[in-house]
Amino acid sequence: MTRRRPKLGRRPWWPALLIAGAGLAAWINVPLPIRPFDGSADRVRALPALDGFHAGQRVLVLSPHPDDETLCCAGMIQQARAAGAEVWITWVTAGDGFEFDAALTERVLRPRAQNMRDLGATRVLEARAAAQVLGVPRDHTVVLGYPDRGLARLTTSNVVRPYTAPRTDASAVYVAGALTPGAPYTGQALDADLNRVLDTVRPDVVLAPAPQDFHTDHHTLALLSIRLMAQRRQEDRLRFWIVHGGIEWPVPKGRHETLPLTIPPRGRTLAWERADLTPAEVARKRDAVAVYRTQTRVLGRFMEAFVRRNELLSPDAPDPDPAPEPAAP
Ligand SMILES: [Zn+2]
Repeated sequence: MTRRRPKLGRRPWWPALLIAGAGLAAWINVPLPIRPFDGSADRVRALPALDGFHAGQRVLVLSPHPDDETLCCAGMIQQARAAGAEVWITWVTAGDGFEFDAALTERVLRPRAQNMRDLGATRVLEARAAAQVLGVPRDHTVVLGYPDRGLARLTTSNVVRPYTAPRTDASAVYVAGALTPGAPYTGQALDADLNRVLDTVRPDVVLAPAPQDFHTDHHTLALLSIRLMAQRRQEDRLRFWIVHGGIEWPVPKGRHETLPLTIPPRGRTLAWERADLTPAEVARKRDAVAVYRTQTRVLGRFMEAFVRRNELLSPDAPDPDPAPEPAAP
């Protein structure tokens, strides 16, 4: 008699996902007994102050997911508006790829495609509410609705052929109120939408993720931004920020609003400038972060750690992985 082996493909995958998600949430949220302040506050203090914003300037924030614009730039957005600049925010994805978040938000053990799409819809609402807290009017916010955790595929294997996002089962933009509803998930469509935003906004300054950012969507949007602005011969208008800056950054996690935001390990080669926030700007940033309820319940202490007395921006983003010098013959 032979025992039939269970088929590997039938083994449920979602308990492992939930355990992994719970582990991730614990790792992010549990306070660590370390305070790795090794002079990093002094290094931040020594940075040059950000060359500020001015009246009439047109500022575009390119945000891979709902919440990045607040984490990186909530203080600078307020400062730009206070100076008389106009600010636009564009979210490239709806943040519909975070399964553990969907499980909590939708109160289901195993999120299905519709749960993921519902999460995306909720995150877009949160994004627009957070922008309002920061004083950015609704008609200055744009949602593109491309797949969360899928941007790299759009710039490689799916430039022409539509990509199907495994979590939402979508292969075209489905988000209500998106710039181009029904646009296929292709690199060509994403390029066209970003170019449409650039044509409409005609930004003097673009706040984009740095190529050094650890998250693949962030990294991909960085390279896209550089390419599209270079095609316009406007790459000097790019300014770079980092949200996923390396293990444990920003430290310490949680609410420490009087501490500086230190230089992210992955961004140590960037020429950072420091934007100092007033207590009122810090308070408003805290309020904008709090709007993201779907995120704070999972990543609260990570998100709060960005509410500090300064933000960081770099006018330059050197090659994250410089090619080695060719060996001498
Ligand atoms: Zn992000």
